[in-house]
Amino acid sequence: HIEQASNFIRQKIDADTAAAKFKRAGLPSVITRFPPEPNGYLHIGHAKSICLNFGMARDYGGRCHLRFDDTNPEKESVEYVNSIKDTVQWLGFDWHSNGVEHLHYASDYFEQLYQFAERLIQAGHAYIDSQDGDTIRFQRGQLNSPGMNSPFRDRPVDESLDIFHRMRAGEFAEGTHVLRAKIDMASSFMAMRDPVIYRIRYAHHHRTGDAWCIYPLYDFTHCISDAIEQVTHSLCTLEFENNRPLYNWVLARLVEVGALAQPLPEQTEFARLNLTYAITSKRKLLKLVEENKVDGWDDPRMMTLVGIRRRGFTPESIRLFCERIGVSKADSWIDMSTLEQAVRDDLDEKAPRAVAVLKPLKLIIDNYPDGQTEPCKAPVHPHHPEMGERHFVFSKELWIEHDDFMVEPMKGFFRLFVGNKVRLRHGFVIECTSYDSDEHGNVTAVHANYYADSKSGTEGSNNYKVKGNIHWLSNESAVSAEIRVYDRLFSDAHPDAGDKDFLDALNADSKHISQGYVESGIANVAAETHFQFERLGYFVTDRVDSKSGALVFNRIVGLKDVWQK
Ligand code: ATP
Ligand code: MG
Ligand code: MG
Repeated sequence: HIEQASNFIRQKIDADTAAAKFKRAGLPSVITRFPPEPNGYLHIGHAKSICLNFGMARDYGGRCHLRFDDTNPEKESVEYVNSIKDTVQWLGFDWHSNGVEHLHYASDYFEQLYQFAERLIQAGHAYIDSQDGDTIRFQRGQLNSPGMNSPFRDRPVDESLDIFHRMRAGEFAEGTHVLRAKIDMASSFMAMRDPVIYRIRYAHHHRTGDAWCIYPLYDFTHCISDAIEQVTHSLCTLEFENNRPLYNWVLARLVEVGALAQPLPEQTEFARLNLTYAITSKRKLLKLVEENKVDGWDDPRMMTLVGIRRRGFTPESIRLFCERIGVSKADSWIDMSTLEQAVRDDLDEKAPRAVAVLKPLKLIIDNYPDGQTEPCKAPVHPHHPEMGERHFVFSKELWIEHDDFMVEPMKGFFRLFVGNKVRLRHGFVIECTSYDSDEHGNVTAVHANYYADSKSGTEGSNNYKVKGNIHWLSNESAVSAEIRVYDRLFSDAHPDAGDKDFLDALNADSKHISQGYVESGIANVAAETHFQFERLGYFVTDRVDSKSGALVFNRIVGLKDVWQK
């Protein structure tokens, strides 16, 4: 695998290892976790977190857990759980370690979390507040002035315990009571101003059903889940920096009451991925789907990982991208071209070459006999002779790309126009003689003569010096295929910056479907097979719609970056 650049997280792990901070019998000194909430499909930003967490565990001989942070039952579902598991595996990562599966759910800890909450109440570190949410929010105050204590802050322990038990038993309506940690209403960290850690919700949970009507909040659940799983390095994005004091506070109190033991997990924040020309927010991605701006979560233009996969990006290319962008402590923007270049770099060496004609125009070789064919060949990959050869035929009628012919050639156009010579790649040199057009002036066919001694790979071919080199397919053998040419979904590099409406930034020209042709050798290719179509770019057979006999190709990226200004 690719050598990872050093980053501040590696430096921390190295220092922790040198200090034997997480040395425990029978456990690796690096245990990380990837903790998605199953409330949507993963996006390219999550790939950064997956590669980081699983990558660190792999590189340090540790392990990484997949943990579903499933404490908001209304928004979560098994559909999302399954898709997330699929995606992590597709990216090439495994939550098994030494034959043990480390697949966890925060909901598995509901009983334990409840008992830990009781311990905090007993120790005077938590209380039941019976005010409504708005009042609690108001009393929390603003950043530069202290908040106000709740009148319930000094409620007797027994009373809080009793209400907490009855909350669990379902005696109260939603919103009537919450459990709050008793910390500091004047803290400069808003998260420390007596955060709510439990609330009443009569919601059906996708795993625990109706067993619970109180649910713990993220800040209470996450740190304890990490501790229960004996995580060492809890890596999260920068917006959680202000929650770190709370993370440490909860765990320290639980150590004090003997519920947890040292060493405790430590949270370290890193910058989230921001990608230009993309949206990486589940809420906004959902809006694109719901308003039919795209064809579902796995639309090949979506920056969801299911969309990226369907578009044709390989797991190797996503991992390469994550290596290249690195991990830092400062927020920044990564250009979309970095992601696109990663897939070119991955596929260039391994994708077989083939010919496709996207917008077919008939080329008639007037001096070639009707009904005759001439075998031609080309390497499957120009640098890898071991990948073999492709075989196809030359004939009187061919398909060429419409864009490779011009009635009035513009300056610098070296391809087909009347009077010009070009080479048909892996075939013959031809000279264009005339063209046919319909009553609207549309070109319907092009005529040419070929030079019989100019065949590629023969000695005679050296006598022809031409500037243009175009691809083609024989009418006799070309196989028809649907070809979907995708471009970036947004035409604005920062579609959701400031108070812009990201729907206004949609690229009106991001999807073109054409009926084209591909060479006969790939007629029966399986879904999700990658190719470089000569001169056109990288393509993949669509994993949902492509069938043998009814091929559908998606363009992943062109051969070169055309967006660079
Ligand atoms: P969203 O804002 O899209 O809803 P989220 O952070 O709420 O994302 P989670 O399912 O909670 O989604 O994320 C799981 C993990 O992935 C978290 O550790 C989170 O920090 C990380 N993550 C989410 N988005 C990004 C991103 N853009 N870059 C890096 N890591 C991310
Ligand atoms: Mg989240
Ligand atoms: Mg979110």
